[in-house]
Amino acid sequence: MIGQRIAEVREQIRLHCEKAGRNPSEVTLIAVSKTKPVSMIEEALAAGQTVFGENKVQEMCEKHEILKDKPIQWHLIGHLQSNKVKKAVAVAEMIHSVDSVSLAEEINKQAVKIDKVQDILLEINVAEEESKFGITVDSAEETVRAIAGLKNIRLRGFMTVAPYTEDPETNRPYFRRLAQLMVDINAQNIDNIHVDILSMGMSGDYGVAVEEGATYIRVGTYLFGERNYNI
Ligand SMILES: *Cc1c(COP(=O)(O)O)cnc(C)c1O
Repeated sequence: MIGQRIAEVREQIRLHCEKAGRNPSEVTLIAVSKTKPVSMIEEALAAGQTVFGENKVQEMCEKHEILKDKPIQWHLIGHLQSNKVKKAVAVAEMIHSVDSVSLAEEINKQAVKIDKVQDILLEINVAEEESKFGITVDSAEETVRAIAGLKNIRLRGFMTVAPYTEDPETNRPYFRRLAQLMVDINAQNIDNIHVDILSMGMSGDYGVAVEEGATYIRVGTYLFGERNYNI
């Protein structure tokens, strides 16, 4: 069942890449396993899925502990509080949700301690929704410049959580805006900064995101079913 869903998403990635003239190998599927049991992660793993996204540090670390012999890359996609940075840095291959200079500084500080260079993305609230985390597109350059000198983090790109919608086309302008931001930031030739990752698109809109240049898509519900937060 999960293996079938993964195959379907991979096929959709292929089709949307073909439509956009992209190479499907540029797109990484992140299986968002938050709230879902380890047994489901193992099922996905058996189907060849190795990159998993979690939105809570504690849950990511617990699952990592159980599955630490497996070839899994953990991505932290949810809001990160500074008191949880140490644990996050110990496990996460990529932190998608960096939304302030102070958080980037704390990640850098904890990464120094374990001699790691932590890959990060800046979370951009492209649609400027009040309910969402992330910095605005307009403040992105200033933030990038402020963190460019931090030696133990490596800014790889940008992430956005687009508005919930029934019609993915309504999110196309936001994805396009994030892709443009990447071009604009690279054009600034800021020391130590070259970005090439765009984390955008979820179960409802990843096809459009791929057409607009997503290199990471974060898919949960479509692979693992609806989440029940009451259990
Ligand atoms: C939960 C979550 C997802 C996955 O959303 P689905 O609609 O279930 O595919 C993607 N990104 C982030 C940041 C999330 O928190």
